[in-house]
Amino acid sequence: MIVLGIETSCDETAAAVVTDRREILGDVVLSQLSDHRPYGGVVPEIAARAHLDHLDGLVRRAMDEAGIGFDRLDGVAATGGPGLIGGVIVGVMTAKAIAAVQGLPFVAVNHLEGHALTARLTDPAPEGLAFPYLLLLVSGGHCQILAVEGVGRYRRLGTTIDDAVGEAFDKAAKLMGLGYPGGPLLERAAEGGDPARFELPRPMKGRPGCDFSFSGLKTAVRNRLDELPPGPLDPADVRDLAAGFQAAVGDVMVDRCARAMARFRAEHPTGDTLVVAGGVAANKYLRARLTALAEKQGFRFQAPPMRLCTDNAVMIAWAGLERLRLGQSDGLDFAPRPRWPLDPAARKPEGKGA
Ligand code: ATP
Ligand code: MG
Ligand code: FE
Repeated sequence: MIVLGIETSCDETAAAVVTDRREILGDVVLSQLSDHRPYGGVVPEIAARAHLDHLDGLVRRAMDEAGIGFDRLDGVAATGGPGLIGGVIVGVMTAKAIAAVQGLPFVAVNHLEGHALTARLTDPAPEGLAFPYLLLLVSGGHCQILAVEGVGRYRRLGTTIDDAVGEAFDKAAKLMGLGYPGGPLLERAAEGGDPARFELPRPMKGRPGCDFSFSGLKTAVRNRLDELPPGPLDPADVRDLAAGFQAAVGDVMVDRCARAMARFRAEHPTGDTLVVAGGVAANKYLRARLTALAEKQGFRFQAPPMRLCTDNAVMIAWAGLERLRLGQSDGLDFAPRPRWPLDPAARKPEGKGA
Protein backbone atom coordinates (compact mmCIF):
# COMPACT_ATOMS: atom_id res chain seq x y z
CA MET A 1 0.00 0.00 0.00
CA ILE A 2 1.38 3.45 -0.97
CA VAL A 3 -0.08 6.71 0.36
CA LEU A 4 0.56 10.37 -0.45
CA GLY A 5 0.26 12.73 2.53
CA ILE A 6 -0.13 16.51 2.64
CA GLU A 7 0.43 18.85 5.62
CA THR A 8 -0.59 22.53 5.56
CA SER A 9 -2.06 23.22 9.02
CA CYS A 10 0.45 25.79 10.20
CA ASP A 11 3.60 27.24 8.65
CA GLU A 12 5.16 24.17 7.03
CA THR A 13 4.03 23.14 3.54
CA ALA A 14 4.82 19.46 3.18
CA ALA A 15 4.19 16.39 1.02
CA ALA A 16 5.37 12.81 1.52
CA VAL A 17 4.91 9.27 0.26
CA VAL A 18 5.02 6.25 2.60
CA THR A 19 4.31 2.53 2.28
CA ASP A 20 2.78 -0.08 4.57
CA ARG A 21 6.27 -1.63 4.79
CA ARG A 22 7.18 1.45 6.82
CA GLU A 23 9.27 2.94 4.02
CA ILE A 24 9.46 6.69 3.42
CA LEU A 25 9.72 7.01 -0.38
CA GLY A 26 9.44 10.80 -0.59
CA ASP A 27 9.55 13.55 2.02
CA VAL A 28 9.66 17.29 1.31
CA VAL A 29 9.04 20.15 3.75
CA LEU A 30 9.09 23.84 2.95
CA SER A 31 9.29 26.03 6.03
CA GLN A 32 7.70 29.49 5.79
CA LEU A 33 9.85 30.69 8.68
CA SER A 34 11.36 33.62 6.80
CA ASP A 35 7.89 34.79 5.66
CA HIS A 36 6.65 35.04 9.25
CA ARG A 37 9.79 36.02 11.15
CA PRO A 38 9.33 39.79 10.67
CA TYR A 39 6.00 39.49 12.52
CA GLY A 40 7.34 37.36 15.41
CA GLY A 41 4.73 34.67 14.82
CA VAL A 42 2.67 32.88 12.17
CA VAL A 43 0.37 35.21 10.17
CA PRO A 44 -2.60 33.05 8.99
CA GLU A 45 -3.23 34.92 5.70
CA ILE A 46 0.44 34.83 4.70
CA ALA A 47 0.57 31.13 5.58
CA ALA A 48 -2.50 30.24 3.49
CA ARG A 49 -1.18 32.10 0.45
CA ALA A 50 2.25 30.49 0.75
CA HIS A 51 0.68 27.01 0.97
CA LEU A 52 -1.29 27.78 -2.18
CA ASP A 53 1.84 28.98 -4.02
CA HIS A 54 4.01 26.00 -3.12
CA LEU A 55 1.92 22.91 -2.49
CA ASP A 56 1.56 21.71 -6.10
CA GLY A 57 5.32 21.87 -6.64
CA LEU A 58 6.01 20.06 -3.38
CA VAL A 59 3.59 17.24 -4.24
CA ARG A 60 5.36 16.91 -7.58
CA ARG A 61 8.75 16.75 -5.83
CA ALA A 62 7.61 14.16 -3.27
CA MET A 63 6.23 11.97 -6.10
CA ASP A 64 9.48 12.42 -8.09
CA GLU A 65 11.53 11.43 -5.03
CA ALA A 66 9.36 8.35 -4.68
CA GLY A 67 9.85 7.69 -8.40
CA ILE A 68 6.18 6.83 -8.99
CA GLY A 69 3.15 8.24 -10.75
CA PHE A 70 -0.23 9.01 -9.17
CA ASP A 71 -1.53 5.74 -10.62
CA ARG A 72 0.62 3.79 -8.15
CA LEU A 73 -1.03 5.37 -5.10
CA ASP A 74 -3.60 3.60 -2.94
CA GLY A 75 -4.87 6.74 -1.26
CA VAL A 76 -4.33 10.44 -0.57
CA ALA A 77 -4.29 11.88 2.96
CA ALA A 78 -4.28 15.50 4.10
CA THR A 79 -4.39 17.22 7.46
CA GLY A 80 -8.08 18.03 8.01
CA GLY A 81 -7.46 19.97 11.22
CA PRO A 82 -6.85 21.20 13.83
CA GLY A 83 -4.96 24.20 12.52
CA LEU A 84 -5.24 27.47 10.65
CA ILE A 85 -8.33 27.17 8.49
CA GLY A 86 -6.91 28.80 5.33
CA GLY A 87 -3.97 26.43 5.18
CA VAL A 88 -6.05 23.36 5.99
CA ILE A 89 -8.44 24.24 3.14
CA VAL A 90 -5.54 24.41 0.66
CA GLY A 91 -4.23 20.98 1.68
CA VAL A 92 -7.64 19.31 1.81
CA MET A 93 -8.72 20.73 -1.58
CA THR A 94 -5.49 19.58 -3.22
CA ALA A 95 -5.76 16.07 -1.77
CA LYS A 96 -9.42 15.78 -2.75
CA ALA A 97 -8.64 16.91 -6.31
CA ILE A 98 -5.91 14.27 -6.72
CA ALA A 99 -8.17 11.61 -5.17
CA ALA A 100 -11.11 12.56 -7.40
CA VAL A 101 -9.09 12.60 -10.62
CA GLN A 102 -7.30 9.32 -9.84
CA GLY A 103 -10.33 7.58 -8.35
CA LEU A 104 -8.55 7.05 -5.02
CA PRO A 105 -9.82 7.13 -1.44
CA PHE A 106 -9.26 10.38 0.46
CA VAL A 107 -8.44 10.47 4.19
CA ALA A 108 -8.75 13.57 6.36
CA VAL A 109 -6.16 13.13 9.10
CA ASN A 110 -6.24 14.78 12.49
CA HIS A 111 -2.85 16.56 12.70
CA LEU A 112 -2.46 15.37 16.30
CA GLU A 113 -3.11 11.79 15.22
CA GLY A 114 -0.23 12.27 12.80
CA HIS A 115 2.07 13.25 15.67
CA ALA A 116 0.62 10.43 17.80
CA LEU A 117 1.14 7.57 15.31
CA THR A 118 4.58 8.58 13.91
CA ALA A 119 6.31 6.37 16.46
CA ARG A 120 4.66 3.30 14.90
CA LEU A 121 6.41 4.14 11.64
CA THR A 122 9.80 4.93 13.15
CA ASP A 123 10.11 2.38 15.97
CA PRO A 124 13.26 0.34 15.32
CA ALA A 125 11.69 -2.96 16.49
CA PRO A 126 11.15 -5.29 13.48
CA GLU A 127 7.39 -5.48 14.12
CA GLY A 128 7.11 -1.77 14.84
CA LEU A 129 5.43 -0.33 17.91
CA ALA A 130 2.27 -2.11 19.10
CA PHE A 131 -0.69 -0.57 20.92
CA PRO A 132 -1.15 0.42 23.67
CA TYR A 133 1.52 3.01 24.48
CA LEU A 134 1.72 6.16 26.53
CA LEU A 135 2.16 9.38 24.55
CA LEU A 136 3.45 12.73 25.67
CA LEU A 137 2.35 15.14 22.93
CA VAL A 138 4.27 18.38 23.24
CA SER A 139 3.89 20.90 20.43
CA GLY A 140 3.21 24.52 19.57
CA GLY A 141 -0.50 24.20 20.26
CA HIS A 142 -0.76 21.27 22.66
CA CYS A 143 0.61 19.64 25.80
CA GLN A 144 -1.18 16.40 26.54
CA ILE A 145 -0.58 12.92 27.91
CA LEU A 146 -2.61 10.26 26.10
CA ALA A 147 -3.06 6.52 26.35
CA VAL A 148 -2.92 5.43 22.69
CA GLU A 149 -5.02 2.26 22.57
CA GLY A 150 -5.49 1.91 18.81
CA VAL A 151 -6.00 3.92 15.63
CA GLY A 152 -8.64 6.48 16.58
CA ARG A 153 -8.60 5.35 20.21
CA TYR A 154 -6.95 8.01 22.33
CA ARG A 155 -7.68 8.53 26.01
CA ARG A 156 -6.47 11.79 27.45
CA LEU A 157 -4.91 11.52 30.90
CA GLY A 158 -3.84 15.15 31.17
CA THR A 159 -3.61 18.44 29.32
CA THR A 160 -2.49 22.01 29.88
CA ILE A 161 -4.89 24.32 31.63
CA ASP A 162 -3.37 27.38 29.94
CA ASP A 163 -0.42 27.60 27.50
CA ALA A 164 0.95 24.78 25.38
CA VAL A 165 4.55 23.92 26.16
CA GLY A 166 5.88 25.01 22.74
CA GLU A 167 4.01 28.27 23.19
CA ALA A 168 5.69 28.69 26.59
CA PHE A 169 9.10 28.14 24.98
CA ASP A 170 8.26 30.67 22.27
CA LYS A 171 7.00 33.30 24.74
CA ALA A 172 9.89 32.84 27.17
CA ALA A 173 12.36 33.11 24.28
CA LYS A 174 10.68 36.30 23.10
CA LEU A 175 10.97 37.81 26.60
CA MET A 176 14.68 36.91 26.57
CA GLY A 177 15.09 38.65 23.21
CA LEU A 178 15.99 35.42 21.44
CA GLY A 179 13.68 35.83 18.44
CA TYR A 180 11.36 33.46 16.63
CA PRO A 181 10.73 30.55 16.71
CA GLY A 182 11.76 30.41 20.33
CA GLY A 183 11.99 26.69 21.08
CA PRO A 184 15.19 25.80 19.25
CA LEU A 185 16.76 29.23 19.96
CA LEU A 186 16.10 28.88 23.69
CA GLU A 187 17.56 25.39 23.68
CA ARG A 188 20.74 26.69 22.05
CA ALA A 189 20.91 29.68 24.41
CA ALA A 190 20.66 27.39 27.45
CA GLU A 191 23.86 25.51 26.61
CA GLY A 192 26.33 25.77 29.47
CA GLY A 193 23.95 27.89 31.57
CA ASP A 194 23.45 27.54 35.34
CA PRO A 195 19.88 26.25 35.79
CA ALA A 196 19.91 26.97 39.54
CA ARG A 197 20.81 30.68 39.42
CA PHE A 198 17.30 32.06 38.87
CA GLU A 199 14.44 30.90 41.02
CA LEU A 200 11.57 29.62 38.86
CA PRO A 201 8.38 27.75 39.82
CA ARG A 202 7.46 24.18 38.88
CA PRO A 203 3.73 24.63 38.17
CA MET A 204 1.52 21.59 38.98
CA LYS A 205 4.44 19.55 40.31
CA GLY A 206 3.25 17.14 43.02
CA ARG A 207 -0.43 17.87 42.34
CA PRO A 208 -2.90 15.04 41.76
CA GLY A 209 -3.76 14.23 38.14
CA CYS A 210 -1.63 14.70 35.03
CA ASP A 211 -2.51 18.25 33.92
CA PHE A 212 0.03 20.95 33.08
CA SER A 213 0.24 24.72 33.45
CA PHE A 214 2.87 27.01 32.00
CA SER A 215 1.59 30.57 32.24
CA GLY A 216 3.01 31.06 35.76
CA LEU A 217 6.42 29.96 34.56
CA LYS A 218 6.32 32.50 31.76
CA THR A 219 5.33 35.25 34.23
CA ALA A 220 8.19 34.22 36.51
CA VAL A 221 10.63 34.55 33.59
CA ARG A 222 9.34 38.09 33.01
CA ASN A 223 9.72 38.91 36.72
CA ARG A 224 13.29 37.59 36.89
CA LEU A 225 14.14 39.71 33.82
CA ASP A 226 12.54 42.78 35.43
CA GLU A 227 14.70 42.28 38.52
CA LEU A 228 17.90 42.52 36.48
CA PRO A 229 19.68 45.87 36.26
CA PRO A 230 18.29 48.07 33.46
CA GLY A 231 20.07 48.10 30.09
CA PRO A 232 20.81 45.50 27.43
CA LEU A 233 20.65 41.87 28.53
CA ASP A 234 23.92 40.21 29.44
CA PRO A 235 24.37 36.97 27.43
CA ALA A 236 25.31 35.16 30.65
CA ASP A 237 21.99 36.18 32.22
CA VAL A 238 20.10 34.89 29.19
CA ARG A 239 22.08 31.65 29.29
CA ASP A 240 21.29 31.00 32.96
CA LEU A 241 17.64 32.00 32.65
CA ALA A 242 17.16 29.81 29.55
CA ALA A 243 18.79 26.88 31.36
CA GLY A 244 16.58 27.54 34.38
CA PHE A 245 13.46 27.64 32.23
CA GLN A 246 14.33 24.37 30.52
CA ALA A 247 15.09 22.70 33.85
CA ALA A 248 11.73 23.85 35.25
CA VAL A 249 9.88 22.46 32.21
CA GLY A 250 11.87 19.23 32.54
CA ASP A 251 11.00 18.85 36.25
CA VAL A 252 7.30 19.39 35.55
CA MET A 253 7.30 16.98 32.64
CA VAL A 254 9.04 14.25 34.62
CA ASP A 255 6.61 14.68 37.52
CA ARG A 256 3.50 14.61 35.31
CA CYS A 257 4.75 11.70 33.19
CA ALA A 258 5.68 9.64 36.27
CA ARG A 259 2.10 9.96 37.50
CA ALA A 260 0.72 9.09 34.07
CA MET A 261 3.00 6.06 33.82
CA ALA A 262 1.70 4.66 37.10
CA ARG A 263 -1.90 5.10 35.97
CA PHE A 264 -1.20 3.73 32.49
CA ARG A 265 0.54 0.67 33.87
CA ALA A 266 -2.35 -0.13 36.19
CA GLU A 267 -4.82 0.09 33.30
CA HIS A 268 -2.63 -1.46 30.58
CA PRO A 269 -0.37 -4.17 32.02
CA THR A 270 0.98 -5.00 28.52
CA GLY A 271 1.93 -1.41 27.63
CA ASP A 272 5.59 -0.65 28.28
CA THR A 273 6.53 2.26 26.01
CA LEU A 274 6.63 6.02 26.56
CA VAL A 275 6.55 7.95 23.30
CA VAL A 276 7.25 11.65 23.02
CA ALA A 277 6.04 13.48 19.92
CA GLY A 278 5.42 17.01 18.60
CA GLY A 279 7.82 19.87 17.95
CA VAL A 280 9.06 20.20 21.54
CA ALA A 281 10.15 16.54 21.38
CA ALA A 282 13.06 17.86 19.30
CA ASN A 283 14.52 19.30 22.53
CA LYS A 284 17.56 17.24 23.50
CA TYR A 285 17.53 18.20 27.18
CA LEU A 286 13.90 17.16 27.57
CA ARG A 287 14.53 13.94 25.66
CA ALA A 288 17.36 13.11 28.05
CA ARG A 289 15.19 13.78 31.12
CA LEU A 290 12.39 11.58 29.72
CA THR A 291 14.82 8.83 28.72
CA ALA A 292 16.13 8.72 32.29
CA LEU A 293 12.59 8.66 33.69
CA ALA A 294 11.54 5.82 31.39
CA GLU A 295 14.60 3.81 32.36
CA LYS A 296 13.87 4.31 36.05
CA GLN A 297 10.24 3.22 35.62
CA GLY A 298 11.03 0.22 33.41
CA PHE A 299 9.48 1.71 30.25
CA ARG A 300 10.96 1.71 26.77
CA PHE A 301 11.46 5.25 25.46
CA GLN A 302 10.73 6.14 21.87
CA ALA A 303 11.02 9.49 20.16
CA PRO A 304 10.79 9.92 16.39
CA PRO A 305 13.86 11.42 14.69
CA MET A 306 13.99 15.23 15.06
CA ARG A 307 12.75 16.02 11.54
CA LEU A 308 9.65 13.89 12.14
CA CYS A 309 8.92 15.62 15.47
CA THR A 310 8.22 19.03 13.99
CA ASP A 311 5.50 19.34 11.35
CA ASN A 312 5.92 17.13 8.30
CA ALA A 313 3.78 15.19 5.82
CA VAL A 314 5.29 11.77 6.53
CA MET A 315 3.22 11.60 9.71
CA ILE A 316 0.06 12.54 7.81
CA ALA A 317 0.69 9.98 5.06
CA TRP A 318 1.36 7.33 7.72
CA ALA A 319 -1.76 8.12 9.80
CA GLY A 320 -3.80 8.06 6.57
CA LEU A 321 -2.29 4.70 5.68
CA GLU A 322 -3.15 3.30 9.13
CA ARG A 323 -6.78 4.35 8.58
CA LEU A 324 -6.94 3.02 5.00
CA ARG A 325 -5.59 -0.33 6.20
CA LEU A 326 -8.59 -0.51 8.52
CA GLY A 327 -10.94 0.26 5.65
CA GLN A 328 -11.57 3.84 6.74
CA SER A 329 -11.69 6.89 4.47
CA ASP A 330 -13.57 10.19 4.21
CA GLY A 331 -16.02 11.56 1.69
CA LEU A 332 -15.10 14.37 -0.69
CA ASP A 333 -17.62 16.46 1.26
CA PHE A 334 -15.34 16.46 4.34
CA ALA A 335 -15.25 19.98 5.83
CA PRO A 336 -11.96 21.18 7.41
CA ARG A 337 -12.07 21.24 11.20
CA PRO A 338 -10.02 24.11 12.70
CA ARG A 339 -10.78 22.57 16.13
CA TRP A 340 -10.61 18.81 16.41
CA PRO A 341 -9.77 17.18 19.76
CA LEU A 342 -8.13 13.75 19.68
CA ASP A 343 -10.19 12.57 22.63
CA PRO A 344 -13.62 14.22 22.34
CA ALA A 345 -14.73 12.46 25.54
CA ALA A 346 -12.06 14.15 27.66
CA ARG A 347 -13.39 16.61 30.19
CA LYS A 348 -12.51 20.26 29.67
CA PRO A 349 -9.56 21.39 31.79
CA GLU A 350 -10.22 24.14 34.33
CA GLY A 351 -8.39 26.81 32.30
CA LYS A 352 -8.79 28.03 28.74
CA GLY A 353 -6.57 25.35 27.08
CA ALA A 354 -7.98 22.54 24.93
P1 ATP B 1 0.29 21.58 16.96
O1 ATP B 1 1.04 20.36 16.52
O2 ATP B 1 -0.08 21.55 18.39
O3 ATP B 1 -0.82 21.92 16.04
P2 ATP B 1 2.41 23.08 15.77
O4 ATP B 1 2.17 22.16 14.64
O5 ATP B 1 2.60 24.52 15.54
O6 ATP B 1 1.29 22.84 16.87
P3 ATP B 1 4.87 21.74 16.03
O7 ATP B 1 5.30 22.16 14.66
O8 ATP B 1 4.59 20.31 16.27
O9 ATP B 1 3.65 22.60 16.57
O10 ATP B 1 5.95 22.27 17.03
C1 ATP B 1 6.37 23.62 17.00
C2 ATP B 1 6.71 24.02 18.40
O11 ATP B 1 7.83 23.25 18.84
C3 ATP B 1 7.11 25.49 18.53
O12 ATP B 1 6.47 26.04 19.65
C4 ATP B 1 8.62 25.40 18.72
O13 ATP B 1 9.14 26.46 19.49
C5 ATP B 1 8.76 24.10 19.47
N1 ATP B 1 10.11 23.55 19.32
C6 ATP B 1 10.74 23.16 18.18
N2 ATP B 1 12.00 22.78 18.43
C7 ATP B 1 12.17 22.90 19.80
C8 ATP B 1 13.25 22.66 20.69
N3 ATP B 1 14.43 22.22 20.24
N4 ATP B 1 13.06 22.92 22.01
C9 ATP B 1 11.86 23.35 22.46
N5 ATP B 1 10.82 23.61 21.67
C10 ATP B 1 10.96 23.38 20.35
MG1 MG C 1 5.55 24.91 12.42
FE1 FE D 1 2.30 19.92 14.85
